[in-house]
Amino acid sequence: PKYKKEKKPHLFNARKKDLVIGETIFVGELASLIGIKAGQIIKTLMNLGIMVTVNESVDAETAQLVAAEYEVEVRVEIKSVEDTLDIAEDKSEDIVVKAPVVTIMGHVDHGKTSLLDKIRSANVTDGEAGGITQHIGAYNVVLEDGSKICFLDTPGHEAFTAMRARGANATDIVILVVAADDGPRPQTIEAINHSKAAGVPIIVAINKCDKDGATPDKVVQQLMEHELISEDFGGDIPMVQVSAHSGLGIDKLLEAIHLQAEIMELTANPTRTAEGVVIESRLDKGRGNICTVLVQNGTLKIGDCYVVGQEFGRVRAMWDDKGNSLKVAPPSTPVEVVGLNGLPFAGDTFQVGVDEKTVRQIAEARTNKAKAKVQASEVVVTLENIFEIASAAEKTNLNLIIKADVVGSMEALSASLQKLGNDEVSVKVIHSAVGGITQTDIALAHASQAIVIGFNVRPDGQAKKNAKNDQVDIKLYSIIYECIEDVTQALEGLLQPIVREEIQGKAEVLEVFTIPKVGVIAGTKIVEGKFMRDSPVRVFRDDVLIYEGQLASLQRFKDSVKEVATGFECGIGIQSYKDLKAKDILESYQRIETAAKL
Ligand code: GDP
Ligand code: MG
Repeated sequence: PKYKKEKKPHLFNARKKDLVIGETIFVGELASLIGIKAGQIIKTLMNLGIMVTVNESVDAETAQLVAAEYEVEVRVEIKSVEDTLDIAEDKSEDIVVKAPVVTIMGHVDHGKTSLLDKIRSANVTDGEAGGITQHIGAYNVVLEDGSKICFLDTPGHEAFTAMRARGANATDIVILVVAADDGPRPQTIEAINHSKAAGVPIIVAINKCDKDGATPDKVVQQLMEHELISEDFGGDIPMVQVSAHSGLGIDKLLEAIHLQAEIMELTANPTRTAEGVVIESRLDKGRGNICTVLVQNGTLKIGDCYVVGQEFGRVRAMWDDKGNSLKVAPPSTPVEVVGLNGLPFAGDTFQVGVDEKTVRQIAEARTNKAKAKVQASEVVVTLENIFEIASAAEKTNLNLIIKADVVGSMEALSASLQKLGNDEVSVKVIHSAVGGITQTDIALAHASQAIVIGFNVRPDGQAKKNAKNDQVDIKLYSIIYECIEDVTQALEGLLQPIVREEIQGKAEVLEVFTIPKVGVIAGTKIVEGKFMRDSPVRVFRDDVLIYEGQLASLQRFKDSVKEVATGFECGIGIQSYKDLKAKDILESYQRIETAAKL
């Protein structure tokens, strides 16, 4: 035939017959390992339908396919991230005690923010006063004896759990704030459950003890019902009476934290390369992508290459919670780092690697994995699931676009909102991101009939204008709780109302007349309840339902009336129904609609 047989690549060029690679490999590296030109590999990949450049990486499976073309066998040795990073054993002399990381939780308005503020201001040395300007989601507090406590200031319980869902238990101790004049409330219980689920010890701070109506002893009793038994009653939960206003008991609270930390023997090795966890991340107008990292082990230094979530980078500069630039960050230090390509998620791990190549490869491998996961989760229609898909399609979705100031709030919000709903209605978050509300968001909302939710963010001018024109609803919140309440109500609005029937009256047909131009009228007697004009009606003959319809007329003598009560006789006409007979029983009823609740 005319066409040539496809040429096999030059086998003899292959330098090696077998290779060992990791989860991914750069195309250039693969080429040089096999011993052929990169261009050749790229062509081979193209034939496989994969478009890549020399500087991009392919996964191990693809590398195997390509290598097979050159009769080179590739063995994959999946090294976990930890393997490629710092694997040195700790020497016992390097181990030091590290500061505990504390999260304050509790019901709204019980004084979480006030308590944290009081602790910070009471422990700020003179030189630093006024230096607290940053909100980075975490603070280090140095006590009089020089010991430190790191407080996390994340937006609520859901964020705490969202982080945990990523495998990050950033918190060593939970301070549960309960107002002495209010006692445990829904979010108090929620906080208890979240802490217990995470296995994090709780210290109760009974706040507002300065108030007249304060009943701290009652609070202690009430907490017992939720299985928090005070140490004073033989339990294991320290409970301290405090006031964020007067400062009462704050020293005792700090002491309790101290004691708990000692029991837990929290240690780290500052000589290792750093690892930590992302507390929050955000987009800053001037500085670009910023994330707050809590160093959990090792020491983070300027110049370190790191991988965080699916991003990688090099520490060019970092700042502490007071905005001071840092050269090194030991364990339990929260720091801000800048210069990331994207925003990592709260709870993502942060790890320092030996060099840029390693961290980049790990980040790429994670990105590929995440992509594969998304693809895998896209629903494939099969005969087995087509029924489910069809009935799921009948579900009413409330589409939402969520914009928030920090990743933590964004994740917390979308997680809690998506949990709302039932088999009839559900929340669908079609987009969520960090940053202000833009015209792009409005366009998306308009196209998908979504509501835009802004959490601690505002729409810009253009977005506002477009939203008005396109009648896109923008809802702004600064309290997660309130947003959840509103969305719950909106969902309930989408639910089909519950329809209940109420029998109103029974009438017996005495005789039937046919009146020209009017139709069939039944002379009846109301035997039970009453009949109302325009109400729906059923016709029974010998106790069998034979017709369902609507009243056409209700008359007493020649007059049309609104209602007729028991014992009276009246004329009844039924819309488009003529087949009435004496002794038929008519039943009048009403449909009563009530709004459904989730
Ligand atoms: P959060 O919602 O838990 O962060 O609570 P906030 O710290 O914002 O406090 C809610 C309200 O309670 C504010 O009006 C505070 O001034 C008040 N508050 C907080 N702590 C105390 C306290 O110890 N004593 C009194 N009397 N009021 C307090
Ligand atoms: Mg607050």
